[in-house]
Amino acid sequence: MCKICENILSFRKNTNITCGNLYTLDKEPAENLQSISGFIHYNYCPFVRFRIALCFYSQRHTKPGSLICFDNPEKNPYLQYWKYTSLMPDAMIDTHCHIYLPQFQTDIHPVLDRAAQAGITDIMMPAIDFGSLKQMDALGHPHIRFHKMIGIHPCDVDGSQGDSGSQAGLEEQLLEKGSAGEIIAIGETGLDYYWSREHIAAQQESLRQHCQAAKALDKPVILHNRDSTEDLLDIIGEQQDGRLRGIWHCFNGTPAQGRRALDLGLYLGIGGVVTFKNAGVDRVVADMPPDRLVLETDAPYLAPVPMRGKRNEPSYIKFTAEKLSELFDISLEETDRITTENARRLFRCQDPSFTGKVM
Ligand SMILES: [Zn+2]
Repeated sequence: MCKICENILSFRKNTNITCGNLYTLDKEPAENLQSISGFIHYNYCPFVRFRIALCFYSQRHTKPGSLICFDNPEKNPYLQYWKYTSLMPDAMIDTHCHIYLPQFQTDIHPVLDRAAQAGITDIMMPAIDFGSLKQMDALGHPHIRFHKMIGIHPCDVDGSQGDSGSQAGLEEQLLEKGSAGEIIAIGETGLDYYWSREHIAAQQESLRQHCQAAKALDKPVILHNRDSTEDLLDIIGEQQDGRLRGIWHCFNGTPAQGRRALDLGLYLGIGGVVTFKNAGVDRVVADMPPDRLVLETDAPYLAPVPMRGKRNEPSYIKFTAEKLSELFDISLEETDRITTENARRLFRCQDPSFTGKVM
């Protein structure tokens, strides 16, 4: 048994916490946070699977600093207030993951268990088309919050996405579907001149409508880009009126393009490509400010080294995080903390209305 599990056991013994009981600590909250964050951190120790959570936001039964201990989180109503991520030094958010796709159909449960054990607390799911929402709804895991987005992937844009078979009305549809509280962002949209040169004008128009919907809804826009960087940044520049925020997902630009994106208010999504030896993305990323980077997998695509070429999954995000630690010469915990804070800031996870779907 590891040292931390011993601590948890003695902590449980000393405080007589039994599973499912609510226990309010009598020390000052700040002190409690410090002493308990260690337990939270090792929440997923593979040897002893105790689940302990601090409950900050429970409105009825607890006050800040209260501790809830439960071995059966699936049945615990307090889970919806489970906002412990800021206390987990190795908590990570996968800001771009197509976990709802058929590639995960046969082994979704072990995939999500591995994600939770790796420290992933939240998975942000970009849509490919309006049908994606239904696939997303089928997902659940007791330790992971799933967040939906609405949008049309540029490779799926053929100019017929709006009402009446044209793009007219696309923005209205995005506004209508995107206004639901459970929709965390608009995307993914963007441009892809590699796979689809046929509908370039339609892609650009779609991107504009996504940006307008994102601004009106005050939600981030998630941007895909392939062989189209200058056009993408031009359109973002044209759309930026102070209200647009978002992520250039799977960032692979030059230093100048990266800086231009930052100036335009974008965050950079860092995925498996940063670990590829021949891509050169690592050297560019090393020049970017860490407080504007977020982690992502883009699973099932673009698995990082040493899994390159395999099906990507959320738990592999740790390889990307390790690469970032190396590039910035900081600890892995520091990388996780910074990138998680960035994602929480961008997606407004601190907002009390932010709950996501835990089950
Ligand atoms: Zn994607």
